[in-house]
Amino acid sequence: MERLDAFMARATAAYYATRDPFGAAGDFITAPEISQAFGECLGLWCAVVWEQMGRPDPVILAELGPGRGTLMADALRAIAEVAPAFRAALRPHLVEASPRLREAQRARLGAYVIWHQEIASLPTGPALILANEFFDALPVRQFVRRGDAWAERFVADGAFLEHPALDAPPLPGAASEGAVQEVSEMSRAVVAALAARPGTALLILDYGPAAGGFGDTLQAMQTHAAADPLAEPGSRDITAHVDFAALAAAAREAGATAHGPLPQGLFLQRLGLATRAAALARARPSQAAAQLSAAQRLLAPEAMGRLFKALAVCDAALPIPPGFES
Ligand code: SAH
Repeated sequence: MERLDAFMARATAAYYATRDPFGAAGDFITAPEISQAFGECLGLWCAVVWEQMGRPDPVILAELGPGRGTLMADALRAIAEVAPAFRAALRPHLVEASPRLREAQRARLGAYVIWHQEIASLPTGPALILANEFFDALPVRQFVRRGDAWAERFVADGAFLEHPALDAPPLPGAASEGAVQEVSEMSRAVVAALAARPGTALLILDYGPAAGGFGDTLQAMQTHAAADPLAEPGSRDITAHVDFAALAAAAREAGATAHGPLPQGLFLQRLGLATRAAALARARPSQAAAQLSAAQRLLAPEAMGRLFKALAVCDAALPIPPGFES
């Protein structure tokens, strides 16, 4: 028997250690793999925030959970073209637990990137940090309302078991019978640690509601279809919705300013993603339809534009970052 967060941590580590799950032949697809315009726009976001920071040199450009390294490759190419001074000042750092994906990132980005097993070893100093679909992979605990108390979910033989919650974090005082409250302590700790760093701006893109709430959002994807999250740990990608309200609260408690969350479609529209996709379509007419439909997938509310959100966590001395102006 394992507490759900321990089960999820073990399953996720085993899953990513052995495979590259992205794309048509894999289990799921992510925004940077859909359109190069995604990473390009985020790279330019970093360039503007670097200007807002007063152009620190050197500056860390870090990514959490970089997958195939596509977002970072697209961001670096756009930065080199538009903001060469920023390109010269930045030092790329990747936080990646999977040896298999580190190899994919090395093949894509070259060996001059510095890898970290976890955020704790990132060097101090001014930093721009990107995280796309990283937090949804971090473990959650689930608490279930039983009578006047909360029980906690454990996993044994592919099924949930409940035990009285012993060392629970603060939970709502009232809830209807059977309500499920998810808490990702690791996500909150990562945000709190980065929010406490002086001169740091963190941009989170992920899926989940803008305001928290009850519900079991644990899910698994295997070959682009929903699968049982508790079966065959390591064989499928397990995620949970990101609780943006909880992350914003953790950031504020650590002294940073939280901007958003905004729907991803609105944020990317403000960064000019549609314009960039139109330029790519004009440059390569044979791929025009594919470029435009990829952009639509990222922007449209019924696709990834609304369920996905953007949240920025910035040193309180920094101005409002691009895209988050009200
Ligand atoms: N950002 C990429 C990949 C998202 S998948 C994209 O958008 O395509 C999640 C990524 O986070 C993978 O690279 C996975 O190996 C990494 N990851 C998951 N849990 C992690 C952890 N606890 N520490 C470091 N990396 C982790």
